[in-house]
Amino acid sequence: MKYRNKRSVKRAKKASLACVECGSRNYTITLGASARTTRLEMNKHCKYCKKHTKHRETK
Ligand SMILES: [Zn+2]
Repeated sequence: MKYRNKRSVKRAKKASLACVECGSRNYTITLGASARTTRLEMNKHCKYCKKHTKHRETK
């Protein structure tokens, strides 16, 4: 097995949080080192819906 770039293995994962009501991606988050299998859900303010809505993690 060849590993040319050992340092590039550790990568921060990025994900977007999208409003479940209008679908717009309002937030970008960086996931920590711990790999997550479940999808994140948060209550955030959506500027398009002009209220707090549920935001779900998308890729
Ligand atoms: Zn929205």
